[in-house]
Amino acid sequence: MSEMIKGVVLRETTIGDYDKIMTVLTAEYGKLSVFARGAKRLKSQLFISTQLFAYSEMNLYKSTNTYYLQSADLIENFYHIRDTLEGSALAGYLADVAADIAVENQNEKELLRLVLNSLHAISLNKKPFAQIKSVFELRAAAIAGFMPNLVACAGCGNSDLETYYFDLTSGIFRCEECYRTDALILEKLAARQSEPDAIYPTGQIISLLTPSVFAAMRYAIYSQPNRIFAFELKDEETLRDFANVAEKYLLCHMDRNYGTLDFYHAVNL
Ligand SMILES: [Zn+2]
Repeated sequence: MSEMIKGVVLRETTIGDYDKIMTVLTAEYGKLSVFARGAKRLKSQLFISTQLFAYSEMNLYKSTNTYYLQSADLIENFYHIRDTLEGSALAGYLADVAADIAVENQNEKELLRLVLNSLHAISLNKKPFAQIKSVFELRAAAIAGFMPNLVACAGCGNSDLETYYFDLTSGIFRCEECYRTDALILEKLAARQSEPDAIYPTGQIISLLTPSVFAAMRYAIYSQPNRIFAFELKDEETLRDFANVAEKYLLCHMDRNYGTLDFYHAVNL
């Protein structure tokens, strides 16, 4: 039985000289492994529509656990991603993360939309790559089940602060006063280590954030999916801090390293 499915190519592995296996992200079926026979031949009808980052309508035939690509029509190949090494490196990292968090046989409409919007933003090249990367990281973490709560201080409920003590491990934040009260309780608990039932401080990682950085995080998390990149950062320092906290937040929840991220940093020095 064959089926028409739209999907974006996140990863590809060459098999032999001309065949490849792709990891394809679709809205309806999440992540799929697709075998594309002869797709690496320059003259193949599949050549363009199966390249990395290509978004295509694919005619797939399913046999046991593998999908075989029969034909494909390219919808968008985000060609200009390849204009810069930084853009290619960023797209490679985003695709890697998406392939990591996408689940097989599960609706991944939201993740697919995030990936397509991000690839589009990279190819347009009108926003700093660091901003695109950070928005992607925060929203990807939220889709993967780690939605931070950026509405109000976890202690007192205040929302407009001068300094935000953001807890990367639990995705909540506190105002300075609540943070200090909490820190004091944790210190007291730590001092009671000899007591068998004492609760010990957990390995919290706290990031101190300015109102501008926090506003950017709130925008990234709460804006409409088609508006996620439509904001300006105040200055270079704000962008740097925003990028720093977004990357740390995703990585601390994914609990792994990405070679593609190391490569992105290597070409952005
Ligand atoms: Zn508070």
